[in-house]
Amino acid sequence: MSENKRLNAPHEYGFETRTIHAGAQPDPVTGARNTPIYQSTSYVFDDVDHAADLFNLQTFGFMYSRLTNPTVSVLEERIANLEDGRAAVCASSGHAAQFLAFFTLLEPGDEFIASRNLYGGSITQFGVSFNRLGWTCNFVDPLDPENFKNAITPKTKAIFIEVLANPGGVVVDLEAIVFIAKDAGIPLIVDNTLATPYLCQPFHWGADLVVHSMTKFLSGHGTSLGGALVESGKFDWAQNEKFPTMTEPDPAYHGLTFAETFGDFGFTMKARAVGLRDFGPCMSPQNAFYTITGMETLHLRMDRHIANAQAVAEFLDDHPGVAWVSYAGLASSPYKTLAQKYMPRGAGSVFTFGVKGGYEGGISLVQNVNLFSHLANVGDTRSLILHPASTTHRQLTDEQRAGAGAGADVIRLSIGLETAEDLIYDLDQALVAE
Ligand SMILES: *Cc1c(COP(=O)(O)O)cnc(C)c1O
Repeated sequence: MSENKRLNAPHEYGFETRTIHAGAQPDPVTGARNTPIYQSTSYVFDDVDHAADLFNLQTFGFMYSRLTNPTVSVLEERIANLEDGRAAVCASSGHAAQFLAFFTLLEPGDEFIASRNLYGGSITQFGVSFNRLGWTCNFVDPLDPENFKNAITPKTKAIFIEVLANPGGVVVDLEAIVFIAKDAGIPLIVDNTLATPYLCQPFHWGADLVVHSMTKFLSGHGTSLGGALVESGKFDWAQNEKFPTMTEPDPAYHGLTFAETFGDFGFTMKARAVGLRDFGPCMSPQNAFYTITGMETLHLRMDRHIANAQAVAEFLDDHPGVAWVSYAGLASSPYKTLAQKYMPRGAGSVFTFGVKGGYEGGISLVQNVNLFSHLANVGDTRSLILHPASTTHRQLTDEQRAGAGAGADVIRLSIGLETAEDLIYDLDQALVAE
């Protein structure tokens, strides 16, 4: 090591080191090197005062696994660290994390704005089920950031986007939308599932909250559902009157005010102490263990996912049975410049292409592949294929489908970690078989 390097203190650990070590240490009692699965619902109080302090949020500790669990806590610290955030709360799934985010922010009658290029399940959650809670989501085309600005009303409390959007391989201009949210005094929430913090760190660009479906690339092996809500710690909840849930006394906790009492991790505290407490979508310690283990190889997996995706996208781009390929890693992609700005390591491994045979051609392709699995997931070690129009996006109207990049001819791929030539061979024989 050079003299300069040694003098470079304090030393900050690199991303790879943190995927393995952040938030974890050998078990102080047994010396177990790996994080144990604390398969326990509840934890013994030291004494009556300790119990009272825990219930009043006057001390931190474990009491009941709906709120906190030692295995899940390691994962929460790890994802907060990898996102360069202040704190995180895990949930049973990505959708549960999204629910916790909005439950913590909104009151009945409130509105938020979301990109229309989102995971299909998010469009249904925001557009249908959230309506029943009195929350209104206005969807806009994210490709012109001004659309967000134009949709803001006095009741708008947040903006929600995916930077790398599922399923279209669309890349959204994060920084431009950060400015619009800051100007309006509302938080920008980024669903960072498809990019993962290895490819994109939304907080570095000024986003305020990040949500993840850990089900995908973070756990990475298709074993476990999970979600996370991460807070940057930089949003000032008291800058305006829009966030009484954060700035007004909470009767359930003796009039405590979350923004004031917990400062830069107040949002996470409220999501846990009220959202998890009262609705209960907590992550299980088993799933936290699988996710922690998966995340230790995130950087290695993502590099290979990207290399394989690039090879497959280039092959499809030249194939006579293929009408178009939407992958931000291709030179021809309109999103290439934005992808290089926000995801310099690569544009992920989920992308779409169009088959010349339209709706029928899409169905025939998914039925003729052998190595690709026809299922509704992304971010597995295995390569996955889906025809959104006949599956995940079936519930949507034709207009919503087209808006979300899931028209009749669209095929979505999630490229896994197999030998690239084998993936190309499989798609080639299935496309020819049409
Ligand atoms: C899968 C997914 C979700 C929902 O996550 P679950 O863990 O399935 O609840 C949300 N956003 C994106 C981008 C996803 O891929």
